[in-house]
Amino acid sequence: MTRFTPPPADCPLCPRLVEFRHQNQKLYPQFYNGAVPPFGALSARMLVVGLAPGLKGANATGRPFTGDYAGDVLYEALQHAGLARGNYEKRADDNFELLEVRISNAVRCVPPQNKPTPEEAKTCNPFLVREIAAMPNLRLILSLGSTSHQAVVKTFKLKQSAFKFGHGVVHQLKPGLVLLDSYHTSRYNINTGTLTREMFADIIEKAKKIIK
Ligand code: URA
Repeated sequence: MTRFTPPPADCPLCPRLVEFRHQNQKLYPQFYNGAVPPFGALSARMLVVGLAPGLKGANATGRPFTGDYAGDVLYEALQHAGLARGNYEKRADDNFELLEVRISNAVRCVPPQNKPTPEEAKTCNPFLVREIAAMPNLRLILSLGSTSHQAVVKTFKLKQSAFKFGHGVVHQLKPGLVLLDSYHTSRYNINTGTLTREMFADIIEKAKKIIK
């Protein structure tokens, strides 16, 4: 079992993201403004991988998906399924707790316009490789969106062409470990009906059956 240390808050690896961080530190000095550490225990059976911190969500609060619309949808569904408990109060120091779930991101620093470049996704990928390797009980990775899906496929050095993103599709990554794809819980996807809360509840139920 390898050890996992997330990047430091002032991770220097992506010049564009460092510059964006410095701008945000001036604009929003009250925000966290750093590489966002994962949420949940390494002993969890399920790892949710998002895209990247939202400017006024995870980048503000310092906890993945915390404080924005995508998090409201994700945390409500996890709690409803019994995979989280406590009061989700949109801040890192609420008493909200994940049960058998850990949440991380394909890119750990907030990108401009919510869009990391392929180079930034590549640069951040080794953290995901080490994080997955440090989860001894991991049975399922839930990718939210195609960028997350591609990042996870890359961590296993699998061919992207053999693992196409598809909402609700289960991919075998290796014996005992699957990847489940879902559309991202973003406000855009919910507003356009690409993903409904019911569809996402079904995804979480499917994940729960697999890890039980
Ligand atoms: N917050 C995150 O941490 N990740 C996302 O993908 C969206 C919001």
